[in-house]
Amino acid sequence: STPTEDLHDFGVRHVTKGLGRITEGIMTKGAGSWVTYDDGRKYLDFTCGIGVTNLGHAHPRVSKAAADQCMQLVHSQCSISLHEPYLRLIERLLPIMPDPSLDSFFFWNSGSEAVEAAIKMARWFTKRQNIICMQGAYHGRTFGAMAVTKSKTIYSAGTHPLMVQHIAPLTAINKPGVFSIPYPYWHQSNMPVNTPASVLADNALYQLDLLLAQQTAPADTAAIIVEPVLGEGGYVPAPPEFLQGLRKVCNKHGIMLIVDEVQCGFGRTGNWFAVTESGVKPDILVMAKGLGNGFPISGVVSRRELTDKLKPGSMGGTYAGNAVSCAAAVAVNEAMVEENTLENVQLRSNELFSALNALKYDPTLNPHILDVRGRGLMVGVEFGSSSVSSHSHAHEPFTTHSAASLPPDTPPHSQHSAHPSGAKHPKNMASRVAKKCIEKGMLILTTSVYEVIRFIPPLNVSKEDMKAGCQIFAESVREVVR
Ligand code: PMP
Repeated sequence: STPTEDLHDFGVRHVTKGLGRITEGIMTKGAGSWVTYDDGRKYLDFTCGIGVTNLGHAHPRVSKAAADQCMQLVHSQCSISLHEPYLRLIERLLPIMPDPSLDSFFFWNSGSEAVEAAIKMARWFTKRQNIICMQGAYHGRTFGAMAVTKSKTIYSAGTHPLMVQHIAPLTAINKPGVFSIPYPYWHQSNMPVNTPASVLADNALYQLDLLLAQQTAPADTAAIIVEPVLGEGGYVPAPPEFLQGLRKVCNKHGIMLIVDEVQCGFGRTGNWFAVTESGVKPDILVMAKGLGNGFPISGVVSRRELTDKLKPGSMGGTYAGNAVSCAAAVAVNEAMVEENTLENVQLRSNELFSALNALKYDPTLNPHILDVRGRGLMVGVEFGSSSVSSHSHAHEPFTTHSAASLPPDTPPHSQHSAHPSGAKHPKNMASRVAKKCIEKGMLILTTSVYEVIRFIPPLNVSKEDMKAGCQIFAESVREVVR
């Protein structure tokens, strides 16, 4: 076999180039908030494998639960027989659902597959075809999920046509069954960074009204799919009034509201689910990532009154609801409750916002950080223009933080971009800062087509590690700006 030192080069030759990568070398170990590479490098991991290892790497309770299950029953295939971890998981999840009406579960392996299942269910429940999604949305890489993904062209370029209406003859020139409206993010409406949340929400909801009047009739529209916090599109929380507005439109027209909490769910925003803040009841809720803390599992939850209409055999998948993944997910939930993880999210979130806002309002850096926003430990930092206009910062950006996690803040400075959307910015700022952070020992990711760094630290990150992460980030920003 290949000697370890050559294994990386072997990988470079034989692993598909279609995968991007932010670090060189081979990761060999993960423990808590830290990962180690084969050459001894250690990193503070503020990526969590893109929002997955929310309880840190190799959480002992989760790993033990999976190991124990491995010795008991690895796989049953759920169309052959239910197994105990599947049912124990439902027992744990029922009480934390954003609404008690969400009481019928289907587990799958990945977020994309769960999105596919949600779209399939919405079409079946409504007997309609079309889906409305958000500009900037990310829902996955399978064809249906890719069709409602609007965050970057790289995910689908060269692979069109995507999902099409099932009308004969089925050709590439048929109208796609997917429509989109702006997410209430200032970029999407080409508005200034300090545009009030209510204006952005009103604009997006107005576009939805127009869409339903001009392009897809309600009677043809099966579902609206939305991330309560836009993830791959820029780490932007939706204002509650936007989600409430979507709910109203769905109620009025019998459209299913699909809420995708793959990235923002399971405590990431300080609530079990991000949609809870708005009080909105999804018809279908999609989850994955943090559910299994690294063991592949996703879920689709809806109401029994709806799912009872599904024909047995219409849903399924070989590994759907794998026993080891379900056992791990049960342990994740137990650990989060016993370790008061949601409380830790609030505490660390306040520290993170304080540190980032201090940087934002540091006159020596101003105006390189244009926006600091998020909920809990799902926080985006957007870099902006250095061309300052004199108009004052009348409103804080709506996305800064929830009232519950209001950090001590410094007074706002005059800070604005000459371009209304703030699109004129120092080039590649986000990726340069991320690269610098990695050089200094912290894994961190950018997101979206804008200049955004995303913070997704473990939900149980310690005070010391949060401080270290903020320090590395601040030093990196200063060095890149210099
Ligand atoms: N939905 C959202 C909101 C996501 O963030 C992701 C993954 N980044 C997905 C769906 C797709 O999940 P997966 O990669 O597990 O297929």
